[in-house]
Amino acid sequence: MVSLRQLFLLNNAQTSSTPRLLEIDRAEGIYLVDLNGKRYMDLVSGFAVSNVGHCHPNVIQAVKNQAERYMHVSVYGEYVQAPQVLFAEKLVSFLPPSLNSVYFVNSGAEATEGALKLAKRYTGRSRILSCKNAYHGSTHGALSVMGNEYYKQAYRPLLPDVHFIEYNNAAHLETIDHTTACVILEAIQGEAGIRVPDLDYIKALRRKCDETGALLIFDEIQTGFGRTGKLFAFEHYGIVPDILLLAKGIGGGMPIGAFISDRKFMDSLKDNPILGHITTFGGHPVSCAAGLATLQTIIGENMMADVHTKELLFRNLLVHTAIKEVRGKGLMLAIQLSSFQEVETVSKLCVDKGLIVDWFLHCDTAIRIAPPLITTEEEIKKACEVLLQALDEYHSK
Ligand code: PLP
Repeated sequence: MVSLRQLFLLNNAQTSSTPRLLEIDRAEGIYLVDLNGKRYMDLVSGFAVSNVGHCHPNVIQAVKNQAERYMHVSVYGEYVQAPQVLFAEKLVSFLPPSLNSVYFVNSGAEATEGALKLAKRYTGRSRILSCKNAYHGSTHGALSVMGNEYYKQAYRPLLPDVHFIEYNNAAHLETIDHTTACVILEAIQGEAGIRVPDLDYIKALRRKCDETGALLIFDEIQTGFGRTGKLFAFEHYGIVPDILLLAKGIGGGMPIGAFISDRKFMDSLKDNPILGHITTFGGHPVSCAAGLATLQTIIGENMMADVHTKELLFRNLLVHTAIKEVRGKGLMLAIQLSSFQEVETVSKLCVDKGLIVDWFLHCDTAIRIAPPLITTEEEIKKACEVLLQALDEYHSK
């Protein structure tokens, strides 16, 4: 009989020659369970998605309730659908007054696309600034603002008039001028290997955008919904972006993204021409119901309260001669090692031992740590024990 794994390799499009090939039976809390019943601690949250854990009962209940009532009914923006309305209202209640208009889409990449279009449309300018080593998604527009030539070269020509500055380099902010439509950047760079910017840099960036009329787009697709210990990472900086991008964790495991801005910007998408962004499934009612339940759960279960304490526990426990540095904020961390071979082998050893870790798109010499916020201190201790054991094994060879 042909196995599921063989069929996966045969009929499902492959994204690399080295897929992990875990055969997932079910997921619960911080664990994935494979077809043989082996449990894996998911230390990457399905790539910064399962902030509230896998299959949180509140999210499941919300999904069930909404699926029984209605699923897709029309393209985004036409009908009044309670899950979209209530999720937007809840989101806005946690945001500053200037972030009051929520455009729901399907994914992070689509949120990036929508935001770039909105910035061009509102400012009437075409010049876009992004950062080296940035990642904002994989569609053509999002790829155009990706700061790594290796992944882009095969797809040129991409969007014109996109320019790259160094993340966290204040001198490069001089590049922002009166022809700039927007500056797009991650609140903390994720795929670059978790790079936390300086407060002064972010404040200077905000000032420069204000002076020139360039819109500041903050990508919080990885940092949002509690990952750094605040609901949104911009709260650490005391500034407010013009456009906020969300996805990944906001659906509690269901697919959804959003770009959020002041209504005065967002309204420019609605006429001359109308339908400035069109999406059939954007803001799917089941995903929005899941999103609302996720947000209520993060707040209601106080999930952000001990994120900082958990970060410190990781930092205290992850001490090893092979570890050059532990970077990041909250439960968004990178363990810097020396080579890709080391990262790859150590990650494989961890997975064999039931601990899922990974590396980063633009930084394959560091291990990614982004567990669900519900991970307990006991589980963190266990995870660090396994990681250190794997490092010992690698280095004793
Ligand atoms: N922006 C950031 C910072 C991301 O990390 C990602 C995905 O990893 C995206 C955008 C793209 O999101 P999606 O994969 O949902 O298109």
